[in-house]
Amino acid sequence: MNKVIIFCAPSGSGKTTIVKHLLQQNNQLMFSVSACTRNRREGEVDGKDYYFLTKENFAEKVKNNEFLEYEEVYGGNFYGTLKAEIERIWALGKVVLFDVDVVGGLNIKNYYGDNALAVFVKPPDVATLEKRLRHRSTETEETLKMRVEKAVHELEFQSKFEVVLLNDDLSIALEKAESLVNSFLNK
Ligand code: ADP
Ligand code: 5GP
Repeated sequence: MNKVIIFCAPSGSGKTTIVKHLLQQNNQLMFSVSACTRNRREGEVDGKDYYFLTKENFAEKVKNNEFLEYEEVYGGNFYGTLKAEIERIWALGKVVLFDVDVVGGLNIKNYYGDNALAVFVKPPDVATLEKRLRHRSTETEETLKMRVEKAVHELEFQSKFEVVLLNDDLSIALEKAESLVNSFLNK
């Protein structure tokens, strides 16, 4: 059975930063590109960051049972993992690396059991998470508020994860992430 690694966290915790670092550092890993219906951010590339779909297109794929999991993550926007994406990565002999929300991550972990490592990335506190989101400059006041509110709820899920990784000092968090991944892959 092939392996998968899942990084989950409230938005703003730093999981994208950690996932990008792991991808650069370990060429056994390949990022699972999710499908989503939100607008593309500046710098994001279709097929690399996400498969950006219209709501109609996304709904069509739901109807055709093409998703391993999907969710309405933020007000009206859908995100999901396409079964074909996982098959594509495994066919290349790589380990799938997921950056998904907390509920999606737990669903994927449930599905793959011991072949999955699920890591919850935790910010030092909510105020720091909000500061990081502001600094990232990708949100309006309204979407920022939505993300912070959801983060408070998502932090309650950390006890359901086998591993919680604190992202306070970034270089320490990156080092810990590397060693977690290496020991899982060498198991
Ligand atoms: P997520 O994917 O969880 O939403 P990001 O990786 O986009 O989070 O990080 C949110 C913002 O915080 C980014 O601007 C990122 O550069 C910054 N960031 C990430 N980790 C740290 C850290 N340990 N200390 C300070 N800033 C960080
Ligand atoms: P963003 O809009 O910041 O890119 O992502 C919003 C949230 O959606 C993040 O928590 C991200 O991890 C999550 N997400 C991205 N892709 C998926 C997916 O395929 N499934 C689920 N359940 N969540 C996802």
